[in-house]
Amino acid sequence: MKITDILFPPKCLLCGKVTHGEYLCPDCERKYRDMCGERCRACGMTQSDCRCNRIRNTDTAVHVFEYESAISKRLIYSLKHKNSRRLREFLAKECKNALFSAITDIGGFSECVLTYVPRSKKSVNKYGFDQSKELCRMISRLAEIPALKMFAHDGGTQSQKSLTLEERFENAGKSYSALKNVNAPYKVIIIDDVTTTGSTLSACAGLARKMGAEYVAALTVAATL
Ligand SMILES: [Zn+2]
Ligand SMILES: [Zn+2]
Repeated sequence: MKITDILFPPKCLLCGKVTHGEYLCPDCERKYRDMCGERCRACGMTQSDCRCNRIRNTDTAVHVFEYESAISKRLIYSLKHKNSRRLREFLAKECKNALFSAITDIGGFSECVLTYVPRSKKSVNKYGFDQSKELCRMISRLAEIPALKMFAHDGGTQSQKSLTLEERFENAGKSYSALKNVNAPYKVIIIDDVTTTGSTLSACAGLARKMGAEYVAALTVAATL
């Protein structure tokens, strides 16, 4: 046991119970795995194999779990609000596993980069970090796929929540732009924490294509179907 484990014992990310170093206690681990193993109501596949969440401008979309259960909402809330390296580590591993099990038909990950949907400056100032950027960095290291910053979030701080679906698409299109002098390789995987309507990811996927990508995939921790 490390001295830091005595001073700061590792705790379950969901219930806070002290663990032997695991991210989740046995009870929460079981609940979490049950949630990930749930079948998609539309296609009957497990969550990481489900491709129902078709996001415009992408070839495929991969997610770890559905954004419905209390557990999933708690994890995403913490990811957005708590600057927890341990939580990101756990979710980055889950994302990497989902990515490798789902995307097997593109001839490997050469000529490929991971990128992310940037958080608004206002939110970065408020919370002190960009969760998707940090997640992207970690997945990049675990998956050994290079990371590349491709997009800027230009204002557009209006919350998407109050908008209709079409307004969301329009708003998302105006909020993001391609970074100048950045060229996309052949394949681009765009990371975000959660997707609901897909409007943000489809805006960024459209930009990635304009920047030269031929294959564009979305990888999110959670998704609504
Ligand atoms: Zn627990
Ligand atoms: Zn499905």
